[in-house]
Amino acid sequence: MPREPILSAAPPQDEDFHRDLRPQRIVDMVGQRDVIERLNIVVDAARKRGESLGHILFDGPPGLGKTTFANCIPRELGVPLVTASGPGIKAPKDLIPYLTNLEEHAVLFIDEIHRLPKAVEEYLYSAMEDFRLDIVLGDGINARTINLRLKRFTLIGATTRAGMLSAPLRDRFATREHLGFYSLSELTEIVRRSAKKLNVKLHDDAASEIARRSRATPRIANNRLRWVRDFADSQAGGIVTLDVARAALAMAGIDVLGLDKQDRGYLETIIRVFTGGPAGVEAIAHTMNLSPDTLTDEVEPYLLRSELLVRTPRGRVVTAKAYEHLQLPSPADTDDQRRLFA
Ligand code: ADP
Repeated sequence: MPREPILSAAPPQDEDFHRDLRPQRIVDMVGQRDVIERLNIVVDAARKRGESLGHILFDGPPGLGKTTFANCIPRELGVPLVTASGPGIKAPKDLIPYLTNLEEHAVLFIDEIHRLPKAVEEYLYSAMEDFRLDIVLGDGINARTINLRLKRFTLIGATTRAGMLSAPLRDRFATREHLGFYSLSELTEIVRRSAKKLNVKLHDDAASEIARRSRATPRIANNRLRWVRDFADSQAGGIVTLDVARAALAMAGIDVLGLDKQDRGYLETIIRVFTGGPAGVEAIAHTMNLSPDTLTDEVEPYLLRSELLVRTPRGRVVTAKAYEHLQLPSPADTDDQRRLFA
């Protein structure tokens, strides 16, 4: 059996840490300018008309701000937020209390919405479109349908896999926004702001070094900052200079591209076991004793973006850049050497 994903099940103290650092209002968010501009327009329009906001779907790799947006939007509107998680809603009956308790114009946020069972998705269709819930109670000749009217609410869904959502569910979101990776300057700004909130004495060049090694992802940047802060408090009198940041990151096994042991392990597995690929993600996951979802959702997006990996119809293939980064001879080099010494 593959092990549980390492990164997705955050311990509770981790949740508190990220909640404390999370921007409270949209204006406090860094980056995602085009997404923010569009959201400001729909939020402003809903506020002016006194109507509920249309349903919104956010997709993108973990740690890029989906939950942060979902928390900020109701604050902008001055409406309550109710939070649910896809894997927690196993049957239609689990969804009913969330929907029936919603106040007028409130926001219901469903994280990992792609993990809702099909039967639950089907209940959502009429809830989202007509603000109505038709519940079948009992079965056989005793079955009866109860029609409940719901208050007009806004559903915000977040997913790392927009492609796994059924088309009818996807089409019911008036706004769909994809969150992309952050630029170095945006991430540096996030590191600086987090350091301020955490009272960390951080040099400017150390902030950009942490950002550079954070896989273009705010959550990772905050995690790296937390480790660097601990390292500085324990080993360097609490001041994070560039050298302190580099020493801390090296000790945690984070390399110059920001890859950690798991990222490198993934590339090395393809090279060692599958001679560089193509290899199917299931096979790689089994070899690494990880779940395929962890690889697809958490490890691959940044490797693909960094051009260390490509996805082909026949499977994953590592690139020449990956061999170079890992300082391993690429098959092309070995062919050349063989020819040279033949
Ligand atoms: P997701 O829901 O996409 O997995 P989160 O919204 O939980 O990601 O973001 C993880 C952390 O990263 C948050 O706690 C927040 O501190 C930080 N973060 C995310 N997006 C931004 C942003 N645009 N500006 C500043 N910080 C951000």
